[in-house]
Order: sequence, then structure tokens, then C-alpha cells
Amino acid sequence: MTASRLRVAVSPLRREFARGPKSDALPTVDAVVARLRPEEPLHCLRPAAIEAAARSFTAAFAGRTLYAVKCNPEPRVLSALWRGGLRAFDCASPAEVALVRQVLPEASIHYMHPVKARSAIRAAYVEHGVRDFAFDSADELAKIAAETRQSDDGRANDLGLILRLALPKGNAGLDLSGKFGAAMEDAPALLRAARGMAVRLGISFHVGSQCTDPARWSQAIALAADAAAQAGVKLDILDVGGGFPVAYPGADLPELAAIMAEIDAGVDRLRDRLGVHAPAEIWAEPGRVLVAQGASVVVQVQARRGDALYINDGVYGSLADAGSLGWRFPVRPLRADQGRASAAAGQSYTLFGPTCDSLDRMDGGFALPADIAEGDWIEIGQLGAYGATLRTAFNGFDRGRLVEVSDPPLLETPGIAIA
Ligand SMILES: *Cc1c(COP(=O)(O)O)cnc(C)c1O
Repeated sequence: MTASRLRVAVSPLRREFARGPKSDALPTVDAVVARLRPEEPLHCLRPAAIEAAARSFTAAFAGRTLYAVKCNPEPRVLSALWRGGLRAFDCASPAEVALVRQVLPEASIHYMHPVKARSAIRAAYVEHGVRDFAFDSADELAKIAAETRQSDDGRANDLGLILRLALPKGNAGLDLSGKFGAAMEDAPALLRAARGMAVRLGISFHVGSQCTDPARWSQAIALAADAAAQAGVKLDILDVGGGFPVAYPGADLPELAAIMAEIDAGVDRLRDRLGVHAPAEIWAEPGRVLVAQGASVVVQVQARRGDALYINDGVYGSLADAGSLGWRFPVRPLRADQGRASAAAGQSYTLFGPTCDSLDRMDGGFALPADIAEGDWIEIGQLGAYGATLRTAFNGFDRGRLVEVSDPPLLETPGIAIA
């Protein structure tokens, strides 16, 4: 076997886009499972739900929406978002930039990772027409300047530069403080330095993923206003980042409208404070809220031991967040034997993934029928965000299929349409 034929990275999902009886209708999850009887995880995309989420979010947000591609880079997801009206994409790697450019040639791409390889900056700028770059230090700013120089005086005259601001630790589901971002005391000097090189100057931040406290956005906007006021330079863009939460079983979340109201109020105060230096453009970089409801994964029960179910996907597959984070996802049983009567009473199960690692478990709280048995399937919802994207090839359990279905999402997020 030649090296090129060795499987060295995670296997791509095998794509099967079967249509239903009417050629333009997508099948249901039940119909696909009945036909394929899948022994490997079956990823079920809901393009209509993704398109609807894009429409809902862009209607609710008073600014420009950039989709954070890392959340789910599947080309059919990107296309569904495009159909939903999304035109701008937040990329963080050369591969994401190239992918978006290939799938959506007209897309506006913004390179929002604050630490980049020099070759990545060059390729994005020269080959893919990217003009907006995030940075969070003088060194990163110098790298962008060096790799995009284009005029005789050695400066690009078309650059958008967005300073990523560090935020104090918060209470998002996933706290992202402490990795990227300029400290408040360094921000004014960085803004002044970037102003001279940029045709568009911005500030961005990220409150952390699955953030359920609307005040985090207005507090972060106030910090951005402080930094800009101290710098004394004109801002063109304020980017309020991602982190918009979605429904999970048992999760307590604010209305999307409440977050938008908090952002609007924060932006009003920032505009009052900065006056003529206030930004004309407001951006957001949502990931999860646009795509979480857009995919589920059908797993199969391989063994049952009491209230433990051994299934064919786990924390090294598309269920990473159900492991160490302990997040709960909506579940729905699909019977292998359609004729078998379902036991009315449900009970709570722990799920074990297929790898040999003892960490590959998802504790308690998965409510399924009392008589669930080997061979039955379980559809697990809300996995469109950070689900398939986080799969690994650990232990060889990386095979799976991808289909498109017509079903509504298993769980709705208030404020986000499902179709
Ligand atoms: C991951 C990420 C996002 C998207 O976050 P969600 O929680 O999925 O909305 C947005 N901006 C940046 C900089 C990110 O790293």
C-alpha cells in the first residue's frame, strides 16, 4: 500500500444524498435509517433549519453577520447559510479560507484568528482576496504588514485591521478568556499603530461560547469603548463576536432578543461616548446559534448493561461536549424492530462511546425507553455545532455517513426559526 493510500487523518463522512419519492423532497431520518440500517454513526443534516437560522439571526442582529466557519465547515452547511442570506465568513486557518473561497466564490472572508503563520496571511491576501485580519499584539501586526505590503511605500492601502481585545473571565459555557486578545493597557497603543496601516480599523472580542449572560456583551462593548477613547482614533468596525447560546435539555437561556437588546444598548452608549470616532459598522461572528439545530447523529446501541448503553459514537467522535463538559443533548429512540411495542416509561441512561478510553462516557440524563436494546438506534440532536467537526480517528472509530433530511430539529431555540 502506498503512503497516499494510508488513512492518516480522520475519514471524511461518506456522503449519501438520497432523495425521497418526490425528487425534490428530502427523506426523513426514519426513512433513511430503515433503508440503511446504519451500523456507523449517521449524520443527518437539516439544510432548511440552517437556512432558517441564518435568516432569523440576520434579521435579529442590527449589523453584519459573519459565520464562524470552525463551528461546522461542511460545504452543504456553508451553502445553506448562503441561501439564508449570509455573505460573510469568519475563517481562522488557510484551509478554512480556501474552502470558503472554493464553495462560495463570492463570499466575503475575514481572517479573524489573531495569531497566524506568515504563509497563511500571504495566501489569504494574495490568493483569496482577504483584506480583513485580526491581530492582538504588535508582533502580529508587524507580520500582517510585512506579508501584505503592496505599494511603493511598503504599505497595503486596502487593509482592514481588527484588534482582538482580551476579556475578563466570564460565565460562558466555554470560557475563552486567557488565550487570545490584547490586554486593556496595551490596546490604545495597538489601535494607534494599526490606524496608520488600515483603511478599516476595528475592535473585536469573544465573550465565550454558549454565553447565557446578555450583560457580557454590553460589558465587553464598554471595554471596547474605553480602549478606543484612550487611543483617540476613529473606529470603523465593532465586532461583538460569537457565543450566542442555543437550547440544550435543561439549559437555562436568555431570549436571543434580550441579547440583541443588550448589544444595541451597549452600541448606543459607545456611539455617544466616541462621537465622530464611533464605528459605522457593527459585526457579529456567530457559529453555534446558526448551525447547532441543523444536524443530528443517529447512533446504534451495540450493547446494554443495566442503565449503560454502549453506542458507536462518543467523545472522540461527535459527542465531545457530552463528555467532559457534561452537556445534555435531546435524544429520540428509533426501534430496530418496528413492530415491538414501546415500553411507556422512560428511564435515564449513561452512554459509553466505542473507544477503549474510560473517558469515553457521557454520564446520566439521557432519557430513553426502559426496553431499549442492542440494535436500536438513538437520534441525538443539536449536534450541528462542534459535532462532526470535532471527530477524531482515535481507535479507528471515525467512519460515518452524511445524509440530508427534511425533519425539523429535535429541539428549538427560542428566537431561531426552524424552517
Ligand atoms: C469560535 C469562535 C466564534 C464562534 O463562537 P460560537 O460560540 O460558536 O458562536 C466566534 N468568534 C471567534 C473568534 C471564535 O473563536
